[in-house]
Amino acid sequence: MGIRFKLSLFVVCFVFVLLTILETLNLRVERQIYIAEIENRAVALMESFAIPCAVAMANQNLPTLDTYIIQFAKAANQMDLRYLAVLDFAGKTVAHTHTGKFGSYDKDAFTLKALKSDTPNVVRHEVNDERILEVSVPIVSGLRWGTLKAGFHLQRVEAKLLASQKRSLLIGLLVSLGVALIAYTFLSFLVLKPLLRMSRIAKAFGEGNLEMRVELNQKDEIGLLAERFNGMAAQIQGYTGSLRRLVAERTTALEEANVQLREVNSELERLAQTDPLTSLYNRRYFLEQLEVELKRAERNPHAFCLMILDVDHFKNYNDCNGHPAGDALLQHLAAVLESNLRTTDILCRYGGEEFAILLLDTELEEGNNTADKIREVISIQPFAHAEKQPQGCLSVSVGIAAHPFDGKNSKELIDRADQALYQSKARGRNCVTSWTEMSVA
Ligand code: GH3
Ligand code: MG
Ligand code: MG
Repeated sequence: MGIRFKLSLFVVCFVFVLLTILETLNLRVERQIYIAEIENRAVALMESFAIPCAVAMANQNLPTLDTYIIQFAKAANQMDLRYLAVLDFAGKTVAHTHTGKFGSYDKDAFTLKALKSDTPNVVRHEVNDERILEVSVPIVSGLRWGTLKAGFHLQRVEAKLLASQKRSLLIGLLVSLGVALIAYTFLSFLVLKPLLRMSRIAKAFGEGNLEMRVELNQKDEIGLLAERFNGMAAQIQGYTGSLRRLVAERTTALEEANVQLREVNSELERLAQTDPLTSLYNRRYFLEQLEVELKRAERNPHAFCLMILDVDHFKNYNDCNGHPAGDALLQHLAAVLESNLRTTDILCRYGGEEFAILLLDTELEEGNNTADKIREVISIQPFAHAEKQPQGCLSVSVGIAAHPFDGKNSKELIDRADQALYQSKARGRNCVTSWTEMSVA
């Protein structure tokens, strides 16, 4: 139930109750005035009538009294006369609008009081569920001759008052509805429409439209509320703006840090798989690649060769030329190896003066040829101080194992290439031995 409806209902009830109370009070007063007026009129009429009655009673002229009663009944017709009676000094009915009453004595309290009273009496009471007014005036002319007594119906008056009351209630209800309608309209214009407008704007603001402001030209509490809302909205907009700037700055810084981190990571990765002296891949990387190649061959069978190459008499080289010269030789040798292999082959420094090479997609025969070619290239390469070596040149011994015939896994392949290398050393160095060749022999 909306606030407009609640307030309007309240206004209807409040105004209706207020009007009903006022109208009830008013009707009560009106009723009293109205009945008092009837009483006064009845007393005045009866007092004027008592004078000729006194003369008739003094003359004991009862027929004249009857005539007077008929005349009075006509005169009081407008006043809803119920009865009119003329009582003598002792209370006997000597004339009455109902002829059957002649000669009777009324013993009711009002009649007894009227007989004793020297002034007019008025009483209102109910007889057989009917509201009536009874009036008495003494018949006096020098002496007290009797009493004039009359009864009047009050139904018409009561009905008139009741109708007036109903009319008042209806008018009260209509006035209340009218007031409620006016209150509803005023509430709509002054309170609810501005509130609904503010509510719409607050919703849009909440949905992220931070430019939204309430524009009200009211100088009342609602205007103040709108002003406060706008102030709050401006503050939130300001905070949001600085927050966004801060987030953007932090995001940029984070992106820059990420780029640096990626660079550092890739450098670390490179270092983790590189030999620092020769810049070739290291043993760790070589073993990883060997596993990769074995898995690849499992899915898609193909041949490849593993070759281990060892510098002959390298200790002698160091001894003769010094350790730094030995290092330089290893670097030179690495460059020679690299330039004599395919880019798809994987070359690494396996340790000390040993190098390992994976010849991808290579059968044993082709692998043997490549190994021998490399061995020969090295033996004729003009390395520094090569002539001081026992064989008059720098030479290498090579062992080779081919997948899948010489070994199915990395351990087998490495062991067998190593054994072949030892065989080359045993054969006098500067030569190539394959595991297949060695095992056949
Ligand atoms: P072989 O013909 O039987 O292989 O004899 P070799 O002298 O080459 O073998 P040995 O194992 O006796 O000696 C290897 C030498 O290589 C010993 C070691 O000091 C040297 N060496 C290993 N790593 C490096 C290195 O990084 N730099 C230098 N300058 N020498 C190294
Ligand atoms: Mg060695
Ligand atoms: Mg050696």
